[in-house]
Amino acid sequence: METKVRFFDYPKQFKAKQEAYMRIVRETFSKGSYILGSEVDAFEREFAALTGARNAVAVGNCTDGLLLCLYALGVGSGDEIITVSHTFVATVEVIVALGATPVFVDIADDHNMDVDKVEGALSQNTKAIIPVQLNGRICSNMDKLVELAAERGVSIIEDAAQSVGAKFKGKCAGTFGIAGCFSFYPAKLLGTFGDAGAIVTDKDDLADKLRMIRNHGRSTHGEVVLWGMNSRMDSVHAAILSYKLGFVKETIKRRREIAGLYHRGLSGISHLKLPPPPVENDDHYDVFQNYEIEAENRDELRRYCEENGVETALPWGGKGVHQFEALGIKSVELPRTEQLFEKALMLPLYPELTDEQVEYVVEVVSQFYS
Ligand SMILES: *Cc1c(COP(=O)(O)O)cnc(C)c1O
Repeated sequence: METKVRFFDYPKQFKAKQEAYMRIVRETFSKGSYILGSEVDAFEREFAALTGARNAVAVGNCTDGLLLCLYALGVGSGDEIITVSHTFVATVEVIVALGATPVFVDIADDHNMDVDKVEGALSQNTKAIIPVQLNGRICSNMDKLVELAAERGVSIIEDAAQSVGAKFKGKCAGTFGIAGCFSFYPAKLLGTFGDAGAIVTDKDDLADKLRMIRNHGRSTHGEVVLWGMNSRMDSVHAAILSYKLGFVKETIKRRREIAGLYHRGLSGISHLKLPPPPVENDDHYDVFQNYEIEAENRDELRRYCEENGVETALPWGGKGVHQFEALGIKSVELPRTEQLFEKALMLPLYPELTDEQVEYVVEVVSQFYS
């Protein structure tokens, strides 16, 4: 059967506004602005304003953002960083790249870091905690995590790659700790046509340092003042992202609408566990980067969807970071994480989906269980 609902439709997203994108490319290139141009400064100001943070520092991608934050904090050999295994390998590889040790804690029912498990994972060597605000939802108990980190003098760096615009008690993802990192990878809620990312922070001195590290350790005068690297944002991506920021609220609204349709359509099926639905005036304002469900007979359901033209995905190929044998991570006990990976399935969710497509997905999934 032909594909009726793609898991993500890259060409459709481009074509929806291709005149605007091509105009931006032409204008930016004609100006001779390629890397860290005025477009990047403008995007940094706009993105900071969206999150409510004092500063945004544009970088090459979110992985770099996380690496730069840890590096700026002086993280290295002997240091421990607490995070989760239910995440993209990026969150953990940056810890290992600096010679530090990842310490995993299990997840809670919201598929995010179980904040109650963090205290037991803290040690003398803990330098930072990286909660991952996955699927467009901030950890439950984020305020408890902030309190605990402050008590223990440990920094929080949020991996907010999937949570542009998500809020908890009115506060935006990325602004709970010392810094928060975002991804503008094409499939992300605010995506460009290539790699890009940003770090937000209220600390001006940290922002200055990150701006130097991303540009070979050079000061604004071009003097090399510390060891850095190259993680600069291209001007054209900044210009496209500024344009897309102009309608990001509508993007989020549409994502929440689709999540609502899934919730209404699927909540009667006892074989499924759904994410919390979008609710107004709740502590959580979720942006639904993904719609990750827990499904009984997941693999059969997935095959049935495929046969009926619906593409689905397993998060990160179906394994937690600690389950990739090649990475040689010593055995850790993460029962809830491992249990989730046996059932987790991601349904298509992006603003270009029509209501009819979402209803078709609901129909196929319902048919499978009936
Ligand atoms: C996408 C993603 C990243 C990596 O972002 P890049 O911009 O591709 O480097 C990191 N963490 C999470 C949770 C992600 O979803």
